[in-house]
Amino acid sequence: MSELSLAERLESIQQGIADATAAAGRNLDEVTMIVVTKFHPASLVRELYNLGIRNVGENRHQEAEAKSAELADLDLTWHFIGQLQSNKAKAVRKYASVVHSVDRASLIKPLATAEPGPVEILDCFVQLNLTHDPGRGGVQPSDVVELAELVAAEPTLNLMGVMAVAPLDEEPRVAFARVRAASERVQTVVPTARFISAGMSHDYREALFEGATHLRIGSAITGNRPIAG
Ligand SMILES: *Cc1c(COP(=O)(O)O)cnc(C)c1O
Repeated sequence: MSELSLAERLESIQQGIADATAAAGRNLDEVTMIVVTKFHPASLVRELYNLGIRNVGENRHQEAEAKSAELADLDLTWHFIGQLQSNKAKAVRKYASVVHSVDRASLIKPLATAEPGPVEILDCFVQLNLTHDPGRGGVQPSDVVELAELVAAEPTLNLMGVMAVAPLDEEPRVAFARVRAASERVQTVVPTARFISAGMSHDYREALFEGATHLRIGSAITGNRPIAG
């Protein structure tokens, strides 16, 4: 796989997404692919830009801040997808247009009251924990509606919907069905929050079958991540 070029890997995933979307009876224009560039240098993000990519995802604030600054000349939309410390929440708004990982109420005020960066209104997903391990981040499905309502109450935040990472020890489709169910419950109180951020390199097909609208694809496009130093 590593003999393929970046362009070839990107094309292969784009084709895979198109095929899975069609197989699920859905339209490709409902699907946004975010390329997760964590641990990779800004130069790789620039190459992706030259291949037409505009949505990129990062999971560590310091790295995202540095890369977005280095690439300020490019018209990129930065998605923050990782666990966020409350004292970093304000700083994330300086470069991010979307935060996928709102996983607790204490993040909401700092995000809502931060000085706007690229967008006046920040798009937010509330993160669901599909396991019973609190270390995995996200709220339990029973608490997701409450968190969603708190986000939706903030005029400077736009609740997009729910986000999740499939557990390692479960069929992804079964896990993503719970995400879809949580999304339906959230939409009963916030009807516009119809988006689902789910699906990574190895499970985006299953996610598309369960209604994912925002895929977060890393290694299948970027190649293996450099070992964190
Ligand atoms: C790293 C990461 C991804 C991408 O994972 P791949 O398996 O490399 O596609 C997606 N979502 C989150 C939250 C991540 O941290």
